[in-house]
Amino acid sequence: MRLSRGIVCECSGASACPDGSNNGTCTTQVNGYCFATVEEVETEAGLVELERTAGCLPPDESGFMQCKSSQVPHRHPKVIECCNESDLCNRRLQPRLPTYLSDAEPAGPEPARGPQPSLLVAAALCVALVAFLAAALLLCRRRRRAGKRPPSPPAAPRSAAEASSGSGSGLPLLVQRTVAKQIQMVESIGKGRYGEVWLARWRGERVAVKVFFTTEEASWFRETEIYQTVLMRHENVLGFIAADIKGTGSWTQMLLITDYHERGSLHDYLQAAVLDPPALLAMAYSVVSGLAHLHMDIFGTKGKPAIAHRDIKSKNILVKRNGQCAIADFGLAVRFVAERDEVDIAPNTRVGTRRYMAPEVLAETLQVTDFEAFKMADMYSLGLVLWEMCRRCAAGERAQQVEPYALPYHDAVPPDPSFDDMHAVVVARRMRPPVPSRWARAPALGALAALMAECWHHNPPVRLTALRVKKTLAKFHTDCDVKLV
Ligand code: ADP
Ligand code: MG
Repeated sequence: MRLSRGIVCECSGASACPDGSNNGTCTTQVNGYCFATVEEVETEAGLVELERTAGCLPPDESGFMQCKSSQVPHRHPKVIECCNESDLCNRRLQPRLPTYLSDAEPAGPEPARGPQPSLLVAAALCVALVAFLAAALLLCRRRRRAGKRPPSPPAAPRSAAEASSGSGSGLPLLVQRTVAKQIQMVESIGKGRYGEVWLARWRGERVAVKVFFTTEEASWFRETEIYQTVLMRHENVLGFIAADIKGTGSWTQMLLITDYHERGSLHDYLQAAVLDPPALLAMAYSVVSGLAHLHMDIFGTKGKPAIAHRDIKSKNILVKRNGQCAIADFGLAVRFVAERDEVDIAPNTRVGTRRYMAPEVLAETLQVTDFEAFKMADMYSLGLVLWEMCRRCAAGERAQQVEPYALPYHDAVPPDPSFDDMHAVVVARRMRPPVPSRWARAPALGALAALMAECWHHNPPVRLTALRVKKTLAKFHTDCDVKLV
């Protein structure tokens, strides 16, 4: 129902009540909403309590966007509920806590609504307690393994490295929350289409925090979900530490905390760096190892589903201090659920980057029910990334003589190419990035030139798989005695 005036809402909690509000109420703008959130908080005594906050939200988009998550069954977190049917309607709202962060997989279908609010709160408390105990147990075990005495009581891991070690199924919710609360933002280091990335400090260590734009909740949820996939961790996949969503007042903040890599994205790194052939091969090998790990499914009860990235590009690959790369930005990724023989596509409006789109994506012929098709599209994009790297490799030449850094198709399409621009070049004219003649004279560049051509082949099934590229590079390494890792 829509009222022609603002509505009065219950308001409680310091951040939710506007200054000067009286009687614990606030009034929304026209078409605004009342909300209620329930959040886990940790008391000074180390206990877990549930904290309820209520207040006013602005009208659509900036406010109600946050509440939409509650309407998508068992896929989105339920920290917030909204209403607008009558004054003080949020008094009866009792949002349930998300449990999705404490498990490898999102929770199964939600139980039917209806139990008493007190029962819900009790159930949520139990979940929080179990998560807390699991975290304590996990940390004690790790400390014992490392030969350290367990501190009492361990509320959170002591270092980012410790936080990010493990199977990849993610830390329990409470521990992630604790990490998120202890973060101090330092400076903004990158902006993508879906959020802003910050360098932050966590207990003296540097970490990266991606703050998603309020409208990009689906990207945050998908990326968090993917990072918590069982066996996701790999040295060439960005290391996940924690995720948190804070939904109070008239804003929602969605955070994703990961390892920080000071060299930044491959795109930024290649602007200035010039690689020698061993460095190029090691870098290429690391990217393809990361992609082969994502694409691979590992069978068994604790197995890993295959994951296709769908936005492979040099801006979504980070360079580590050891010269290896880590694949990042999983806001668009899809998983293949082998038991159900089903592609798990995120309810997400996001699409990949036009410049890196495979011909079948541009021609809109990709079969979305065929998981292999997504992997093949990733391989096309990988071919373009290999090309970007090779241009910056000096194999005998002086550093100034190598090709300057360039984006793929930089000379064929405008800076922000439209779908049609890309279609004309990649599908209609079947153009691919040019391979300079000097590459043929250097074994490493020659080998990579041959591989990239087989990655960006027009016909998807003809393209190499990530595993095949990885094995070929490993063989090149033994044949030419080049150190890859
Ligand atoms: P978006 O989803 O908005 O594209 P990304 O995850 O791709 O966000 O990050 C945007 C940019 O921020 C990257 O291109 C990179 O320059 C920088 N960045 C992201 N994560 C890190 C990190 N862990 N360490 C250093 N820089 C990072
Ligand atoms: Mg990105």
